[in-house]
Amino acid sequence: MTTQPVFRFAPSPNGHLHLGHALSALLNARAAVALSGRFLVRVEDIDQTRCTPDLEREMFEDLAWLGVPLDEPVLRQSENFPQYRAALEKLQDMGLVYPAYLTRAEIKAFVSAKEANGKSWPRDPDGAPLYPGDAAVLSAEELKSRAASDAPFSLRLDMQRALAEIGRALSWQETGAEGESLFAEPVAVPVEAAAWGDVILARKDTPTSYHLSVVVDDARQGITDVLRGQDLYHATSVHRVLQELLGLPSPVYRHHRLVLGADGRKLSKSSKDTSLRSLREAGMTHAELRKRIGL
Ligand code: GLU
Repeated sequence: MTTQPVFRFAPSPNGHLHLGHALSALLNARAAVALSGRFLVRVEDIDQTRCTPDLEREMFEDLAWLGVPLDEPVLRQSENFPQYRAALEKLQDMGLVYPAYLTRAEIKAFVSAKEANGKSWPRDPDGAPLYPGDAAVLSAEELKSRAASDAPFSLRLDMQRALAEIGRALSWQETGAEGESLFAEPVAVPVEAAAWGDVILARKDTPTSYHLSVVVDDARQGITDVLRGQDLYHATSVHRVLQELLGLPSPVYRHHRLVLGADGRKLSKSSKDTSLRSLREAGMTHAELRKRIGL
């Protein structure tokens, strides 16, 4: 028996949906129809300060305007913290998680000082500097006092230890996102997770991060096909490692082209002129939208 494909669209309501989200939602909806699958929405609202009920409501209005048929139920991440906490505890029990006290500004200052001395510092595939480790910046005394006080911290995955725990090379399955390529045989892409360094899994006040919740939820929702933007291609290596450590199934991945702005750059939620809301209010039709995003 073959399983019915399950696709998902997983936006964060921390701003308005833009043309890139429209492409993602429409490609997922098309793929679900072409492969006789289901199409679920997941609201990625773990950041409770930036994600608001108003933005979520407006997001659903945008999706209704796009006319994508959504299956039930909707999963809202803010309602699922116990599940993420359980996954985090499993990784903690394996000895793979450590508290990290350096603030973003401290990491930045450390890296700038290195670079000012002509030394390069490794960066992850998104361009962020790898975590140098608390001991590279803080004295033993300072570290002790932060640990004993109410100082904010992140919980990071010890990537080297995690890879040693897995003990073998991993890969993920990748295939096409639109047209004929939807039906292509997946190819195995080698995982290159070391390049990410010690990624954040949770924070002092939030028991999860994007990486942790995405793998927990893809499994919980029975997602068979993750169809998302090319900007998340390299993050799949991290997701594959977490799936392996947590004993979760790995979906097939389909990364789609990005819609770029007039300046040739990736769209941002803060830019008004590419938000679906403002384009709709300015009178953009569905046909014009499809043309703009190359569908
Ligand atoms: N929430 C992510 C975003 O809005 C997408 C996550 C994913 O598709 O894996 O970019």
